[in-house]
Amino acid sequence: MTTPQAPIRPDAAPKVGLVSLGCPKALVDSERIVTRLRAEGYQISPDYKGADLVLVNTCGFLDSARDESLEAIGEAIEANGKVIVTGCLGAEPEVIQAAHPKVLAVTGPHQYEQVMDAVHTYLTPPHDPHMDLVPESGLRLTPRHYAYLKISEGCNNRCSFCIIPKLRGDLASRPIHHVLTEAEQLVRAGVKELLVISQDTSAYGLDVKYAPQMWKGEEYQTRFIDLARGLGSLGVWTRLHYVYPYPHVDKVIPLMAEGLITPYLDIPFQHASAPVLKAMKRPGGQDKVLSRIANWRRDVPDLAIRSTFIVGFPGETEEDFDILLEFIKEAKIDRAGCFKYENVIHADSRDLPGHLPEEVKEERWHRFMAAQVEVSAARAKAQIGTVQDVIIDATGETAGSYLARSKADAPEVDGMVHLTSNLHLESGDIVAAKITDADEYDLFGDAV
Ligand code: SF4
Repeated sequence: MTTPQAPIRPDAAPKVGLVSLGCPKALVDSERIVTRLRAEGYQISPDYKGADLVLVNTCGFLDSARDESLEAIGEAIEANGKVIVTGCLGAEPEVIQAAHPKVLAVTGPHQYEQVMDAVHTYLTPPHDPHMDLVPESGLRLTPRHYAYLKISEGCNNRCSFCIIPKLRGDLASRPIHHVLTEAEQLVRAGVKELLVISQDTSAYGLDVKYAPQMWKGEEYQTRFIDLARGLGSLGVWTRLHYVYPYPHVDKVIPLMAEGLITPYLDIPFQHASAPVLKAMKRPGGQDKVLSRIANWRRDVPDLAIRSTFIVGFPGETEEDFDILLEFIKEAKIDRAGCFKYENVIHADSRDLPGHLPEEVKEERWHRFMAAQVEVSAARAKAQIGTVQDVIIDATGETAGSYLARSKADAPEVDGMVHLTSNLHLESGDIVAAKITDADEYDLFGDAV
């Protein structure tokens, strides 16, 4: 780390350029930092141009993400010269400083105070900060109509391939009344879709022993199901991400059946074969998962399940892999991301026996994707002729065309609905659409 120099004192409000890398959780960190910066009167710039210093929020989850982060830091130094680094890779300052000794300061994930201290050191805040520059719902980096709602930091699990607990620490849940109040403010600010994120959403509140809190005159425990109940009362789409299949997850299904929670579950199963799951040290248990999914679908027929999987984990046999393929077909996993196992630095799985050659991982990845595309295409085809609500994300390239999403599609990661309408629609409008066609992932339809 270099020694602090005299802070820059520009005449106009000092401008901080922000480069935000990584997952939605990192994006929420960036939003909090931006909110704090704006509250203190700093200007924010989405690139290096005209910025007095650049803040790079890094990701350190996979080796490829680490490389991308280091590259982004290098670019920022070259383009601007004054760079502060935060985020997951910030938990390893020695790596950053070895690659980029000119970096001014390094802070770890969700260290908002330290980030602000570093910014103050190198860029004097303007006098008389105007708190009213910041809307009640904070500043967001997502479009106006949807927002990520982070309910906790860290994770109590110790999955062998994952270094998140080393980077972000143990589970630390936000009090439920704070989360619900933030959600309400977001809805008041125009948000139509809340995306609940954490490392392990179903474990919410475990660390605070499910402490009860009051919100709008009613008692809510800091736990998954009360959170779903509270969010469900806000009247917007609420999508639950990173839900592990603990038995209590079954309790959210009736809320979906009632239309209070969006019929969508993002469950990162990662695998289906018992020996691989054991080697991965996965939480949640796989017992009776197939029959539970069948029960969920019986009660909520339009439920969409999204998941992520790792293929080529150390020790994964052909038989294990076949079990995985069978699982995604039988469980009809509607949307799936698939990653080839990466031997991440500091992950416990590095020491496991049976590491597989890259060609085997590659070949299994292709077979997985081919099986998945069939499941996805079958689901998409089954939607033809249905009428369903879709949310408008953007206008399309031609007049009267729009890019929209159904309740089965989370932003950024899932499919789209290509919509035509004679009406003038805005981002965030929710309209009924008749589905007329489908390809493997996307739907096509007309507003009705
Ligand atoms: S649940 Fe496992 S994979 Fe997810 S953050 Fe925790 S340790 Fe990592």
